Amino acid sequence: MCCVAGKHQIALKNLQNNEEIPHSVLFIHGEISEKCQRNTLLITLNSEYRDNCAVSRINGEFKSLLQLNVGLNKLTLNYCNAVFSININHKVSKNTRSVTPLYIVVRNHDGCFQAREGNSPVNACARISVGLRMAQMVFAEKLRAHGGTGRKTFHLSGDCEVFNSNLTIKEAFTMTESQLWSFFARELIDRMPDCQNRKFVAFIGCTRYCGTKDPAYTYESIQAATVANAALGSGGLALLGTGCLFSWPERICDVRRCLEDETKVPLDELMDNSAYRRTYGGCFATTIGVLLHEMGHIFDLAHCSEGIMGSNCDRVDQMLTLKDFHGQYGNVPKRHVPTGRGTRCTIVRHPGGMAAAFSAMSHSNGVYFTENCLTLLDTHKWFNESREPQLDAGLAFNADTREICGKYPLRLVEMRSASGLVERYWIISTSESTNNIYFSIPSHIQLMKCTIFCIDAFGNILTETFN
Ligand SMILES: [Zn+2]
Ligand SMILES: [Zn+2]
Repeated sequence: MCCVAGKHQIALKNLQNNEEIPHSVLFIHGEISEKCQRNTLLITLNSEYRDNCAVSRINGEFKSLLQLNVGLNKLTLNYCNAVFSININHKVSKNTRSVTPLYIVVRNHDGCFQAREGNSPVNACARISVGLRMAQMVFAEKLRAHGGTGRKTFHLSGDCEVFNSNLTIKEAFTMTESQLWSFFARELIDRMPDCQNRKFVAFIGCTRYCGTKDPAYTYESIQAATVANAALGSGGLALLGTGCLFSWPERICDVRRCLEDETKVPLDELMDNSAYRRTYGGCFATTIGVLLHEMGHIFDLAHCSEGIMGSNCDRVDQMLTLKDFHGQYGNVPKRHVPTGRGTRCTIVRHPGGMAAAFSAMSHSNGVYFTENCLTLLDTHKWFNESREPQLDAGLAFNADTREICGKYPLRLVEMRSASGLVERYWIISTSESTNNIYFSIPSHIQLMKCTIFCIDAFGNILTETFN
């Protein structure tokens, strides 16, 4: 052995010993200082699962994804002569509100999604379950990094199941995205129990890309050549197409390999939604980003000028792999998200300096929510184990005084444009104990054609629209 004992140091950036984790996918992000020629690290979970994880030649960084068991998990990392181990406690959330993943099979359809192989409903459900578990982890990782609020995330009711719809394939092929959303939303409310405590993330099995005549294969022409497709989240349903499900893995241990997959998409045969990377890995990363974005909407997030709720939702591969993004992937074209007037965000009563520090940190790995989104999620009912029902939140807006008043401390006020873009927001600091049940909209701000959105510390929501 070439190295002196004690030379290498293994450090984890996002995990602590005995940490409690509500999600089943563990993301491990760490660094080896004083590394030697070895470029892999062995990660062992509960002596059952091993990951031979790549270590960056440049800075000793490593990233891994593992599937946790419920309860105590022992994680051991071996690099050269150095050993590091910690315990992770996977504690399933007791939130009575949950998210249910579904794979929709329409009438007169065999249920196979578009792919060269392995495209049965069973394959689809395995892939969607992986996607939802990843989303659950990403939300938790982003909230963990947000000013010490902890790893909050939504509760998954279980793995993905098939939902047999009464819509015919012929109807599905002629309907617009919003018609599909309305049809399936109504069908779910009619047929699924306990809809007030559940939100659905449903994938349409019969999405078909028919090939575009556009030699440039632009995002718009590919969308136009695809039927029974959707990317629409609102209320209790996020509805998505399966055009890129061919690029998704069926096991968590294959996520990293699939994100790094450079196989070229056959552009005349399969749908390319990769932010112009034209690779399987690009399609997987982009469509996981789309999933995060649409799920953001069902958790009441609106569009922002940047981040996952803006047009920066293609970089999940940057968060979870060691791919070099400053070179080859430096300038991925942005995905189009409708924006209204120019966005301006104002933060009041917020500890100085933290916003800037947070912003810098969040930009570092490609996937981020802006801080108004994180503040909203942090108090959202789907992200907090059920509290006593707040029957009367007492949230009201007085148009004469322009004042929002509640019974409980207010956390966030947003002004949203008619097109659903957050134009301004105010985060109300939790440390401020006085007067935080009131908020006055400054008099110079026009209310016309705007929606005021407000959430309190118990996740109660007020929306008020002005025409
Ligand atoms: Zn060594
Ligand atoms: Zn959107």
